[in-house]
Amino acid sequence: MDIYSGPVFDMARTQFHRIADHLEIATDRRDRLLYPKRAIAVSCPVTRDDGRLTVFQGYRVQHHLTLGPTKGGTRFAPSVDIGEVAALAVWMSWKCALAGLPYGGAKGGVTVDPYSLSRRELEGLSRRYMQEMIPFVGPHTDVMAPDMGTNEQVMAWFMDTYSMYQGRTVTEIVTGKPVSAGGTLGRREATGRGVAYLVERAAERIGLAMTGATAIIQGFGNVGSITAASLAARGVRVIGVSDHTACYFDPRGLDVPALLAHAGTTGKLAGFSNEMVFDPAELLAQPCDILVPAALERVIDGAMAARLQCRVLAEAANGPTTPDADTVLEQRREIFVIPDILCNAGGVIVSYFEWVQDLQQFFWDEAEVNDRLYRVLQRAFAQVLARAERDGISLRTAAMAIGVAKVRDAKDTRGLFP
Ligand code: NAD
Repeated sequence: MDIYSGPVFDMARTQFHRIADHLEIATDRRDRLLYPKRAIAVSCPVTRDDGRLTVFQGYRVQHHLTLGPTKGGTRFAPSVDIGEVAALAVWMSWKCALAGLPYGGAKGGVTVDPYSLSRRELEGLSRRYMQEMIPFVGPHTDVMAPDMGTNEQVMAWFMDTYSMYQGRTVTEIVTGKPVSAGGTLGRREATGRGVAYLVERAAERIGLAMTGATAIIQGFGNVGSITAASLAARGVRVIGVSDHTACYFDPRGLDVPALLAHAGTTGKLAGFSNEMVFDPAELLAQPCDILVPAALERVIDGAMAARLQCRVLAEAANGPTTPDADTVLEQRREIFVIPDILCNAGGVIVSYFEWVQDLQQFFWDEAEVNDRLYRVLQRAFAQVLARAERDGISLRTAAMAIGVAKVRDAKDTRGLFP
């Protein structure tokens, strides 16, 4: 029986088999590459503010241990199940390998609507989840980070909980921590900065001027908001944004600093404007130069892919584009797709830098972090382009082929124990 069910894992499996076909990986070798090494399910009891007890289900999936510890975010969202977490762990593996990081992929999550919890309840859940995970994680085993629904504060609670059990401060157990708790400069902004950097590289390739180009961004959390700020700083006109509370569209351009200030104060986009309200189901299909899904998986299916009117599709979210959509996009060569495992890799790259700095207790300034980030992204981008051109394949196939082949080669070289 396969415990990894559901549409998100099905998508990761379909993508993997397409790549395995491309790499001509023998059928009997595939399961060893695709299926996670370990999956942990835990129950997390939390006393609510009104005195009731609620038990939340939590998961952690560690995909492979071949190249080093596993690494990956923790998601707090109502959709979380073991299949979704496993798919995200698998994608992390290909992403880390593509960027040349010494990690396997992991992911964790709790099935909860984090927006429905008070701060005290969120802290209780975060601490209990980490406490349940202590036997399975460690700075050289599995290192957590933020993802949808978690943030720097949650990482600080994770780190504090783990440290209390160890009897000493272990900053290197999680990344994406606040700088005041052993985090690195530039981590909070890293994913969005990386997205904007790669959009600029893509724009150069297709002869699109960043100044005056238009962008639509779905999701205005960590990744979406920093992407908006970083694109605006390059002269891009952000004409559409959405989050789970509101959607705004104005072809004349939105006031990005005002949006950032509003979301920073209220934690959401709702209440920003009554005039620019737009149908969220139609946002992605509006004409723009740069389209950035930065929220959920599977928002671009085959039908939506046929309707896209962008020149660059920058996949800031994990898994925003379904395999059906990929088939459509392979015909629509006028759209430059920056695949997710490349586009949002800035987050894990700077998480790696944070882990290295914590292990060494030697910290870099922000310019050094950013400079190293852009160098790693530039190298990965160049490799993906070269592979796509050499083999006449899409950028997603090229990116995933590089990642999967690196893991396959490492497994083949190490052999099978015992
Ligand atoms: P976040 O929790 O900070 O923000 C998520 C955003 O998505 C919020 O603005 C939320 O309102 C919005 N959202 C939720 N449901 C929505 C809907 N139906 N329509 C429109 N917006 C909706 O999370 P994040 O860290 O910004 O992560 C966003 C995506 O980026 C996820 O796919 C995540 O896996 C991926 N990612 C994040 C990082 C990172 O460093 N945080 C790194 C790589 C990839």
